[in-house]
Amino acid sequence: MNGSRIKVLPEDLINKIAAGEVIERPASVVKELIENSIDAGSTRAMIEIHNAGTRMIRVSDNGCGMSKEEIQISIERHSTSKITKLDDLFNINTLGFRGEALPSIASVSRFEIRSMIKGGEAGLDVGSQLKVEGGKLKDIEDAALPQGTTVIIKDLFFNTPARRKFLKSDATELGHIGDIVSKYVMAYPQIAFELISDGKQLISSSGIGKLKDAIAAVYGVDIAKDLIEVNFEFQSIKVSGFISSPTTSRIDRNYENFFVNRRYVHNFLLNRALENAYRTLIPLNRYPIAILFVDIDPKQIDVNVHPTKKEVKFSNNYEVMNAIAAATKEALSAVIDNKISPVISQPGVVWENDQLPITNFESGIEVLSPTNIELNITAIQPLIPIYQFKNTYIISTDGDDLVIIDQHAAHERILYDRLSGKSSPEHSQPLLILETIDLNPKESAILNENMDYLKGLGFDLEEFGNNSYILRSVPYVAVKSNAKLMVLDIISELQNIGKTIQLDAKQESIRKLVACRSAIKAGDKLKIDEMNQLIKDLYATQNPTTCPHGRPTMIRLTESEFMKKFGR
Ligand code: ADP
Ligand code: MG
Repeated sequence: MNGSRIKVLPEDLINKIAAGEVIERPASVVKELIENSIDAGSTRAMIEIHNAGTRMIRVSDNGCGMSKEEIQISIERHSTSKITKLDDLFNINTLGFRGEALPSIASVSRFEIRSMIKGGEAGLDVGSQLKVEGGKLKDIEDAALPQGTTVIIKDLFFNTPARRKFLKSDATELGHIGDIVSKYVMAYPQIAFELISDGKQLISSSGIGKLKDAIAAVYGVDIAKDLIEVNFEFQSIKVSGFISSPTTSRIDRNYENFFVNRRYVHNFLLNRALENAYRTLIPLNRYPIAILFVDIDPKQIDVNVHPTKKEVKFSNNYEVMNAIAAATKEALSAVIDNKISPVISQPGVVWENDQLPITNFESGIEVLSPTNIELNITAIQPLIPIYQFKNTYIISTDGDDLVIIDQHAAHERILYDRLSGKSSPEHSQPLLILETIDLNPKESAILNENMDYLKGLGFDLEEFGNNSYILRSVPYVAVKSNAKLMVLDIISELQNIGKTIQLDAKQESIRKLVACRSAIKAGDKLKIDEMNQLIKDLYATQNPTTCPHGRPTMIRLTESEFMKKFGR
């Protein structure tokens, strides 16, 4: 051994290693190339792929282009036209800045770049084209080209078989590419994007500059037309975009899109802030659709934490979360029922540093306090009940509309809101016959843990040793129910949701259970004045259109819908 075992790695090996971080799959190539097209000021970007990008990816734009010299530099490591000094890093307005993408991609593919700068090379109407194979320059020559840049990647990972093996099925890889393109279509409505896969057009946006058009290009016209606009400023943070109404939801978070200063980001805190605003409005385990843009002073964020720049860190998480929650709540309150014209009295501050341990948040555990936004409901115009259908649905009229109310869901909402208000032991009703409840030690421990809250709701329970209890009274709303069974059910519910869940969420589920068990059932016959009272009480709640589980309490049919059905 000659004593010097430490060596500087050769450039092409460095690039391959860097490629491992930046270029994970065909979709990462698409992402980097689109970002370069956007940074180049393009108004059009066409993405063509074959075999989900494994055989070929071609991205063409009409941006500023590059000179022959610039093309050659662009494939060098850390060459970028976007930052020149350290200070720039804290004030980035472009998507790229690390100067790693092109050399990384070129080191793991057969790579070709064609470009023509505005006006042509040195006044000549000619551009240049350069070929690289596995990081090695093959060829550079002049070529007649339109203004802009085209990058062609063939046989991605041909020289890194281990990487290639990690690729998933074509359908999965294509799905990732579609996702990526969709994000940029929505983030840049002023750019006309087109995605063509094996000759088939999958996405095409007009580039007209309207966000709604861009959303329609991605999610379809039906979804786009029902979205609610968000426009909100909170301290120095602006939140804008579109969200779904509570009647539309999805089974996963894939439709929750966040852009910070136009950059698509992943930050779970943002998802939670959004979802919190929909709590009790949409069913459990369902998620809203959102395309939300957060505009914030670039000095307040750090996007440099991950090579793909997808992660973002905020200097103040809580401020951003509050802004998103308040923006969402404001937008939702305007549509919850426009007939009762709710008014926002204050954008409640929901999170504070000590209130919200990040660790809990990241594990997905709910630690949020209930909404502080209060709706002042004015101008109530109650519906007029005309008939109870199948002893389950109240058919009523509301001006020209026909409204069908689910009596159980409606009553659940009323009781839930009552239980959520200021409750005190006076809200309880003594039982005529005392109940004794025998528990096992575990159940007894759970009951004791939640005893104070249950007492506050109106359950008067007294332990008389050996895990046995006497139940003397129940919440007023629950007088007609089987009290003992309800207490046992609360205990098993608490047991099911487990220890980790936060107090707020526990109490919420107790209220939901008591409301559900105490509410009028489907099949209970109601007199007309009972129906009237139910409607009046329902309209006095904050969210008359949904039950505490987020399901609708009523269906509204307008006269024009009838006319359409009757073919008038
Ligand atoms: P970064 O985007 O981080 O600067 P890249 O490796 O992606 O690094 O690109 C290197 C440079 O090549 C860019 O800074 C830019 O000057 C130039 N470039 C890349 N793609 C294009 C394009 N489509 N149009 C014009 N210039 C481009
Ligand atoms: Mg780039």
